[in-house]
Amino acid sequence: MTQQTALVTGASSGIGQACALRLARLGWRVFAAVRNPAAGEALKQKHSNITSLILDVTDEAQIRTAVEQVGKAVGAAGLQGLVNNAGIAVAAPLEFIPIDELRRQLEVNVVAQMAVTQAFLPLLRQGHGRIVNMSSVGGKSVVPMLGPYSASKYALEALSDALRMELMPSGIHVAIIEPASIKTPIWDKSLAAADELERKMSPKAQEVYGVPMANMRKLAVASNRTGVPASAVAKAVTHALTANQPKVRYLVGNARGRVQTLANLLPARWRDRLLVGMLWREPKNRLKMKPMGALHSSCRIQS
Ligand code: NDP
Repeated sequence: MTQQTALVTGASSGIGQACALRLARLGWRVFAAVRNPAAGEALKQKHSNITSLILDVTDEAQIRTAVEQVGKAVGAAGLQGLVNNAGIAVAAPLEFIPIDELRRQLEVNVVAQMAVTQAFLPLLRQGHGRIVNMSSVGGKSVVPMLGPYSASKYALEALSDALRMELMPSGIHVAIIEPASIKTPIWDKSLAAADELERKMSPKAQEVYGVPMANMRKLAVASNRTGVPASAVAKAVTHALTANQPKVRYLVGNARGRVQTLANLLPARWRDRLLVGMLWREPKNRLKMKPMGALHSSCRIQS
């Protein structure tokens, strides 16, 4: 059997690295796309089936070069898998998030995913390949302070659904992976970025959103601690690339993630009250909610 080839974006760490390694161990030839050459070198040392390439998914010139590089290597066999995994998580209250940060979130997690997909589609058509898009449980339900990240993953879900239908007649499957809490460096990176954003925010922002931001930070630390290993996601990605009947969506993760998805089944106002009650809770601050009928996603915090 001829060797299958896949490209994995954001392969320097976490889920991307786990996917690259799992596929390589299964005999696939893997193009592990990274931004930092040192990360690429380290990956190449881990398995001989791995070739690294430099790819910032927001850089059109780098995308073109990557397509040329992969195209030359695979020739007429084309590409059998594209794993759109690269991503960032921006956490901040929407009232105060610098608009450039919101743009950056959407650029990396949404627009760039489509730029990479468009560029590699000719090779995927040639190789009768499949596409796997890394969404999140955050693409199914949203929590306060994570609006930018969830907006990006909701958008990725919509694009993936449209793409799957558009490519169905061509026999190219598009699978969506929805991880819950996975133990990867993304938590520390987004906590550091959130701290940086918070430092730049006005005293007013601190006054209004200090409590929920602190609670979100605690939740992020806990999620990282209790998260499942990235290998669980890599297993789902492999299924999406190899199964005779791949699923459309793969929910991967611990009970908390499933609860987050299930919370979506609650009536919207109940869900809002639950989340707001949880995040704005602070010993010194008593949350005074309006009666249910009058609640317009608003609340008052009394010291
Ligand atoms: P990591 O931070 O470990 O991995 C993110 C990867 O994306 C890194 O390789 C990073 O590269 C890369 N990346 C970031 N920006 C760019 C860019 N502009 N161009 C190319 N690569 C880029 O986190 P995860 O492994 O957790 O995240 C992988 C995916 O999984 C993301 O899409 C994330 O949203 C999703 N996910 C993760 C969950 C979790 O709990 N961990 C839950 C749900 C979804 P570099 O090292 O250069 O920064």
